[in-house]
Amino acid sequence: MIILKTERDLQAMRPACRLAAVVLDEVSAFIQPGVTTRMIDEFAAQRIAGYGAKSAFLGYKKFPCHLCISVNDQVVHGLASERRVDFGDLVSLDVGVRYNGWIGDNARTVAVGGCDLKAQRLLDITEQALYEGIAVAKPGNRVTDISHAVQRFVESNGYSVVREFVGHGVGKSMHEDPQVPNFVETGKHQAKLKPGMTIAIEPMVNAGSANVKVLKDGWTVVTEDGQLSAHFEHTVLITENGPEILTCHEKTALKSKAG
Ligand code: MG
Repeated sequence: MIILKTERDLQAMRPACRLAAVVLDEVSAFIQPGVTTRMIDEFAAQRIAGYGAKSAFLGYKKFPCHLCISVNDQVVHGLASERRVDFGDLVSLDVGVRYNGWIGDNARTVAVGGCDLKAQRLLDITEQALYEGIAVAKPGNRVTDISHAVQRFVESNGYSVVREFVGHGVGKSMHEDPQVPNFVETGKHQAKLKPGMTIAIEPMVNAGSANVKVLKDGWTVVTEDGQLSAHFEHTVLITENGPEILTCHEKTALKSKAG
């Protein structure tokens, strides 16, 4: 069942989404060559707590970390460890926070200290694919229009979209209806987009084949061929006038208790 948010719901949900965006920015800025993914997780935990929020991921199906940190061939759901990130690594950061009962969910892949042109192109195409999807997230269109826009853009640029993990409705729960795949499944995902829907659109794009596998830790998803992967995500509200990205912020609007 798709839950449409009222104006009152949105008043409560907007701060959660803004907060998720602030934390994602702060974590992105924290990353530099030599930091371990454990240090990134601890930094995120401290920022989230400082704003009086909670990680939406910690404990979700027993997920053990405060955010997902996926390096290079890791696609999503990477775990914090003693691994140090190095110049040129691609680090996908997925930040979900719960604040006053509502969830904001967003992700971004950053290059550690810059990267080569090939990797940069993967980042650019994946990020643009997200905006291609957002651009058609408007009333009258269907969920599958988002899927189509993302898939067409990614594949026309020579990359592939991951099938096993998809975008989703989001609100008081992290995963609500509808599912928002990054590829078209004929005849499926025909739900019409309506004002008040809040969905996380999140292309996961592989440089090589679309195939992925889960590592023995039960969480980390990697590309089967070992090639790079990137991930960008926003929580988006459908309005009468089109899409509104909820996971963006003016940092000054939030007062950090963390100082
Ligand atoms: Mg998500």
